[in-house]
Amino acid sequence: MGENAAGEATTPFDGLLLDVDDTLVDTRAAMVAAGTAAVAALWPDVAPEVHRAAGTHFHQDPGGYFTKFTTGEMAFAEMRAARVAEMVRAHGLTEVADVATRFEEAYRPAFRDSVRLFEDVEDLLEQATAAGIRVGALTNSDERATAHKLELSGLSQAFVTVMTTDTLGFGKPDPRVFAHACELLGVAPERTLCVGDHVEVDALAATRAGLHGVWLRRPGPGSPRREELAADDEALARAHGIPVVSSLAEVGPILTGGHASRPERPRGPAGLGPGGASGPDLGGGRAGR
Ligand SMILES: [Mg+2]
Repeated sequence: MGENAAGEATTPFDGLLLDVDDTLVDTRAAMVAAGTAAVAALWPDVAPEVHRAAGTHFHQDPGGYFTKFTTGEMAFAEMRAARVAEMVRAHGLTEVADVATRFEEAYRPAFRDSVRLFEDVEDLLEQATAAGIRVGALTNSDERATAHKLELSGLSQAFVTVMTTDTLGFGKPDPRVFAHACELLGVAPERTLCVGDHVEVDALAATRAGLHGVWLRRPGPGSPRREELAADDEALARAHGIPVVSSLAEVGPILTGGHASRPERPRGPAGLGPGGASGPDLGGGRAGR
């Protein structure tokens, strides 16, 4: 892996860990579409704008239930039911018996029909494989939902390992998750690149765990608030020497030591290096699954 016959390293990295949601798969679009369809199925008499607003609310998860799942405080089904209940309250929807089950039944086929892989994924996987780099998926979603998403996207066989929150009972940004993923991949953390769309949970947490984080800032539907948040995230990444890319096409050269330089390891204040003290709350909470 990443070395020639003499055992000398030929690439800066031996391992690549990729987040799944909104990094490989356009989960945000699929979740909003499926949430909208599920609300329309359960509350057909409500205006279409409300279907869309409630479906978007379900994805955005303002109650932070997805974070509770990633820290092991909530089971996956419980987390999803809590999000549905909160959405019902927030949008003044009428009570429906067995609402969580019926929502999921309507949501599932709509999600299946909406999910798609980003166009830049396959090329990166091919480049990594050609360079002898071992590739794993590391997601905060659960095992079943992830297997389903990867299957729908044609990525079932693409990874040496797929690590989910179920693996250890908690997820990113806990540094133990990154260490365990490297172990499963058979690579050293300091020779592993980790790419994801969440600056804290993916890129910064990986860097703090001794890997090399890269923040993927995908262009998306813009709003002033979203732009503001993205600008804050970018400043955070830059402050820690974390490369910022807008497409996975930019990751290949970093991975193989091509056109882009190898990312700088963070230096400076305590708590930024491997095993360092914990930093600010990395709970995230945006765009939960
Ligand atoms: Mg993600």
